[in-house]
Amino acid sequence: MVVGWHRPTKLVIDTHAIKQNVRNEIKRVPDGTELFAVVKANGYGHGAIQTAKAAIEGGATGFCVAVLDEAIELREAGITEPILILGVVDTSYIDLLLKYDLSVTAATQEWLEQAKEQLVHLQTESPLKIHIKVDTGMGRIGFTSPEAVKKAVTVVKAENSMMWEGVFTHFSTADEKEIDYFQKQEQRFKSVLAVLDELPRYVHTSNSATAFWHPEHTGNMIRFGIGLYGLNPSGHELTEVYPLKPALSLVSELIQVKELPAGEGIGYGNTYTTKDNEWIGTVPIGYADGWLRHLTGFSVLVEGAECEIVGRICMDQCMIRLPKQVEVGTTVTLIGHDHGQEITMQMVADKLETIHYEVACTFSERLPREYK
Ligand SMILES: *Cc1c(COP(=O)(O)O)cnc(C)c1O
Repeated sequence: MVVGWHRPTKLVIDTHAIKQNVRNEIKRVPDGTELFAVVKANGYGHGAIQTAKAAIEGGATGFCVAVLDEAIELREAGITEPILILGVVDTSYIDLLLKYDLSVTAATQEWLEQAKEQLVHLQTESPLKIHIKVDTGMGRIGFTSPEAVKKAVTVVKAENSMMWEGVFTHFSTADEKEIDYFQKQEQRFKSVLAVLDELPRYVHTSNSATAFWHPEHTGNMIRFGIGLYGLNPSGHELTEVYPLKPALSLVSELIQVKELPAGEGIGYGNTYTTKDNEWIGTVPIGYADGWLRHLTGFSVLVEGAECEIVGRICMDQCMIRLPKQVEVGTTVTLIGHDHGQEITMQMVADKLETIHYEVACTFSERLPREYK
């Protein structure tokens, strides 16, 4: 998709906020704990490369991504820090893992056997860096018993073409008040570590929520994702342990303003009818940008005033009810601060009955990202 550079609608990303969030987190973690910035899905929509660079300035020493291509994107942008791919990569791409010096997740014995097979043909100079994933209760990917992990470690250690770089797990409820299930997972991970004769360079269990609310977590590296972007992983459930700085704003401008008499229909399906003489403004953003149709009835800010989105949101435009006549070209703040008022990602997520993670990832490529 092309980027709409020539339209006044854009995401503005505050890279200082990202840097500051990383700094604040690094201050909290025990000495010797590294922070890997999670920049999968184009840095949760914020832009992977720019986020990665800001995170390095803040003190991040490595990165996590979900898919191979995301790792390659970082390498091609000149990022030289360790990069771990958290998802499963087909073993037929091991040549690329080696070429770009990437660390990969091993989640099953079959994968390891296939990788071993592939490596025989590749005759590599440097070994493939492997992090063994332990499924302690997420039910997603990973080895599920201490015996299986031990066997996997034995395979990796027996191969010169492989290097055992990490062992890790992922918690499914670290962002909740209830801690029983978290403790069960933590216990399982500890019982895995207990059967291993030695540990690799990286032992890691923490996403942002674990780092925030379970600071006694096991490990020497954290996989810091949503916290980078200044968002509270738990939504409303748990309070921030320090003030996070949201990095993303979404702004546009009014492209048309008109006064309509009572009884006029607005938008497809005529779902809104003016009740009185009303000032209606048109904003050039729609569901193709990730500003989804369910946001009808939500409010945006114009000169500090909350303006309701009226009628159905179109693919490329939507209409708002203004309190008075406002100049064409006036800024419309859809997310962020305006005249002392604020609309947060959490408010958008609440309206959409989802989580801000999903809102951030839904912004389309058509929205230009401006960095400051
Ligand atoms: C996405 C992801 C993270 C980062 O999670 P946040 O909640 O954004 O901090 C960490 N670990 C794994 C395995 C992930 O998939």
